[in-house]
Formats: sequence, structure tokens, C-alpha cells
Amino acid sequence: MTTVLVVEDDGALRRALGLSLRSRGIEVLDVATGEQALNVAADGRADLIVLDLGLPDMDGVDVLKRLRSFTTVPVIVLTARDRQADKVRVLDAGADDYVTKPFDPEELLARIRAALRRSPDAETGPVVVRVGDLEIDLSRRRITRDDEPVHLTRTELQLLELLVRNPEKLLTQEYLLREVWGAGYGTETNYLRVYIGQLRKKLGDDATNPRLIVTEPGIGYRWIAE
Ligand code: CA
Repeated sequence: MTTVLVVEDDGALRRALGLSLRSRGIEVLDVATGEQALNVAADGRADLIVLDLGLPDMDGVDVLKRLRSFTTVPVIVLTARDRQADKVRVLDAGADDYVTKPFDPEELLARIRAALRRSPDAETGPVVVRVGDLEIDLSRRRITRDDEPVHLTRTELQLLELLVRNPEKLLTQEYLLREVWGAGYGTETNYLRVYIGQLRKKLGDDATNPRLIVTEPGIGYRWIAE
């Protein structure tokens, strides 16, 4: 059974979330403060944490940073702040995803399912992804479209690998730049635009109607292929 820790000071929203999760067979632990969240998370029962950013006792980002000092369970942040800088800040502080309030409970459930599907050992296991006529074999670094090999540069392959190994996870521009280009990078978002554009072209994806890579403007990219 999956256990989700819900951290939300708004009682009505906390109860509504609890009901909707329990109706899907998810066990729910719920708390209203950052301090309680850290205490409950520390006992290790939660498989995933839904964390509201606006808490009465602590800043949600500080709660997140402290959570990340002892746990790697997925954290989905609920935020009323729709400023992009805040979204980037929570993702860089270790959140797996965020949902902006007000939100559709179905959207949150979909994000929860996606975060739980990403297994902790996904980084090492062989990954073969098939989407329509496209086949991506990451262990052999072989990509084919309609059985014809697709030739990717090393940079394109690294980007693709990061995206495919983190399905449905929003990866920030800063994260991708640091991972692919190195520690000194983080603001060269024009590099990313160029390389993601090439990748889309070679894989046959369409930025305006994507089936593989979605752009979250000003924030990052998400691999959406099932
Ligand atoms: Ca709140």
C-alpha cells in the first residue's frame, strides 16, 4: 500500500485531498505545519510527500531543504505562487514536481502516480522506450525511427538520456545545463533551445503539439512519452 504524507495548513483542502487520495486506495498521513511534516517524514513511512509552500511556521522551501537532508522520497509541491522564479527555486531545492493552486485533484493524482513510477534505481537499469515508430535503447545507446538508425550527437544523447530516465518529471533548464555542459553552466538557456530543437527534429516531435518533449516556458522540459 502506498502512503502519502500531505502537508497543508488549509484544513478544508487537507481534508479534500485526504478523501480523494484515500478513495484511490492510498494511505494518507496529514499534518498542518512544517515542523510536524519533518517529524512524520523522519519516521520513514511516507512513500511520497505533498508539500504546501505557504505554511504557518516555516517557509515551504526550508522544509523541502531539510527533508532533502535525510530523505529521497518524491516531493510534489503545492504552490499558489505562480511566479516562475519560485517554481525554479522549489525544483532546484529538490522537489520532484509542483502543482499550482487552484488545481484539479486528477492532475495531482497523475503527478503522484508519475513520481511513484520513477523507481529509485531507474538511473542504472536498462531502458528501452518505444513511442510509435521510435525506439530508444539507452543501455545500447541506439535510437531508431521506423527501424532506421537516428544519429545523435553526444550532447543530444545526454539530453535525451536525462529526459527519458525521468519520465514526466519537470527538469529545470539549470539542471539540464549543469548535467550536460558542466558545473559552470546554468544560464545558457539558448544552448538548450537549440539542442532540444535539434532533438525534436531528429526524433520527429513537434514543439507545438508534442508527444515526446514538452516545454515549460522559462522553467524547463518534461518527457511525456508513455
Ligand atoms: Ca497554505
